[in-house]
This record gives sequence, structure tokens and C-alpha cells, in this order.
Amino acid sequence: MDLHKRLQQKLADRAAQDNLRQLKTTSGLTDFCSNDYLGLARSQKLRALIKETEQQYSHLPLGATGSRLLSGNNTLFEESEKTIAQYHRGEAALLFNSGYVANVGLLSALPQRGDTVFYDEASHASMKDGLRLSFAKSYSFRHNNVQDLQQKLRLALGQVFVVVESVYSMEGDKAPLSELAQLCGAANAALIVDEAHAVGLYGEKGEGLTVALGLENQVFAQVITYGKAMGAHGAAVVGPQVLRDFLINYSRAFIYTTGLPTHALVALKCAYSLLPELEKERRQVKLLARHLSEQLNKIHGIRCTPAESVILSVFMEDGGTAKLKEFASFLQAEQFDVRPVLSPTVPKGQERLRVIVHAYNTLQEIDGLVKAIAKGL
Ligand code: PMP
Repeated sequence: MDLHKRLQQKLADRAAQDNLRQLKTTSGLTDFCSNDYLGLARSQKLRALIKETEQQYSHLPLGATGSRLLSGNNTLFEESEKTIAQYHRGEAALLFNSGYVANVGLLSALPQRGDTVFYDEASHASMKDGLRLSFAKSYSFRHNNVQDLQQKLRLALGQVFVVVESVYSMEGDKAPLSELAQLCGAANAALIVDEAHAVGLYGEKGEGLTVALGLENQVFAQVITYGKAMGAHGAAVVGPQVLRDFLINYSRAFIYTTGLPTHALVALKCAYSLLPELEKERRQVKLLARHLSEQLNKIHGIRCTPAESVILSVFMEDGGTAKLKEFASFLQAEQFDVRPVLSPTVPKGQERLRVIVHAYNTLQEIDGLVKAIAKGL
């Protein structure tokens, strides 16, 4: 049909103006890219445990069969949410279908018309999308800049919210959570923390940074995601019981969708049961990240962020889009799965290679990557 052809041409024209990204499969490369920080997604122990545990829930349907407000709720949801709340030291928890959906569901519903939200400019797209759907007014503040936030707080009207990540997905740096909590306390602002990249890695049992810093009572809500260090899928909002009740009734991203399938809940339950014992992995991955950052900073012509977390950004001199893409392809040809992060994911001029370290990376792999980077420059 002509109509379809014209529309396809429009899409192709639009695409031609942009830096198109493509889906890739990269099996066999050394993983410096995935969010499987502790190796749970590839853990045979977890796989076996899930298989065994699934039998115990064979009385439940495979799929949720509906929205949780209709046919989709069951005892495993309720049981899981109690465990999650306890683990992250909140009063209650509510599961969402992914971290993206949790942020959209929370931030579109909680701040109301007349309220004000201040969010870190480096916040994940899902938080920004949630705020776009909210009727509250929102302002960004400079990345990790408490002073800037303090100044912007003068614009506050109504109920005030401050939205941050505990570890930033692109920068790999940590939010100054204690300072933020103090400022929020003084300014009567409710602090919301996305723990996506901190869950599993911080705290005695991998509870996240909020709990690691003892801030659970000063944080209004934590967003816990399961697709990264937990090796699974889904997310939860942890906070007061009334928040859970509120979201069940007002969060459209919760209400108008089918709940998580049983196997996802079983995977989650099993991942939580293994998480406390991964202390060695937590320590190992941080040591490796520090080592990699130090070695990379000895190379002339690149700059690596300090290893505040296990996510590192490597900036190249004159590292524009084309050069970074080419360099990442070179590293992939050398068998290292390292990806460039380009605009618009990060602002123009801040394109970088993103290197993620895992507990299962060996010292030889790290040193091999350092050599390959030095060779490719
Ligand atoms: N929040 C942050 C900070 C993230 O980095 C991500 C994933 N990139 C998400 C939320 C979304 O989580 P999920 O992948 O579970 O949708």
C-alpha cells in the first residue's frame, strides 16, 4: 500500500538523520557490559534452585492471568512482597513488572498537581518519563550537586519530592545520600531513591545503599530492581504501607497490566535466598573495578572514572561518536564486550565507553582489557 510505503520512507528518513543503534548478540566475548554484577544470571546454583522451587508452586498458574486487582494476585505475590519489604527494611513493598515500569508507576502517581519534584539531571529515563506523566511540576538539579538542589528548593510548592539514584547507571558514581537525606529532612521533602545499580552490592546482605548507610527511615521510597545484580526480572517499590495501598489504587502502570508470571516470582525468591551469602563476590567485584580503573588511568590519552561502583566510564581524547564506535568495535574484535554510550543516552560531548566489572571477571581478563585498550589507541 502506498500509505505504508510513505510511512516506511518517513521512518527511514528520520533514521538516516540519527546515529542508529542496532541490536547485537555477543556470545563468547568476555563480559564487560552486562549488569550481571554478581554472576547470579549465569549461576547454575540459582538455576537449579529455581527449578526445584518451581515444583512447590505448581498449583499456581504459569502466567498471572490478569491485573493483580482482578484475577492476577496470588499468595506468592503477597509472600514475596513481605520478604522484599523486610529485606530492604521498609514497611511494605509492591512489585512492578520492571524497573522502568516501577519508576513510571511511582513517579506518575505519587506527586500530585500542585506538588514539586526535584530530580538529579543524570536520573534514568524511566524516572524522567514517570515525571512527564505526573501533573506535578518538576525541576532537574545538577548531578550530585546538593548546593544546587538546596537553591532550587526555593521553587518548591506543595508536597516536595527529591528523586535520585543511589548509584548512577552511566556515571557509576554514588549519590551523596546522607547529605541529601539531611537536606530533605530540613526542607520537608520526601526522598525517593532508585537502587537499581546498588542492590546486591552494598549493605551486609546486598540490601542497597540506603540500608548500607542506615538511611531507611529517612528515605520515603526505594525502587529495587531485579534485572541487574539479582539476575532476574521485575522491580519493587519499598516504602510505607499507605504508599503500597496508594499505588495499588492510583498507579496506572500497576493497575492496567498483567502481573509478573509465577516463574519470575520464583526466580526472585531464589535470588533473594542466595543474596546474603555473596559477600565474597561483593568484595571481589569492587576490588577488580578499582584495579581496572587504576590501570586504565595509567594509559595516556584516556581518562577513567574512579571506581565508586563497578560501573566505569572511559573517556577518550577527542572521543566523538564515530571514534568511540570504532574503538568499541576494535575491543569487540579483541574479544572484549565493551560498548560505547552515545548521545542521546548521555549528553553530547560526554560520550564514553562504559565498562562494567563483574565478580566472575578474572584478573587476567582485566589486564587483557587494559592491554587491548592501550594497543587500540
Ligand atoms: N532505574 C535505573 C537507574 C536503571 O539503570 C534501569 C535500567 N537501565 C532501570 C531503572 C530500569 O530497570 P529495568 O531494566 O528493570 O526496567
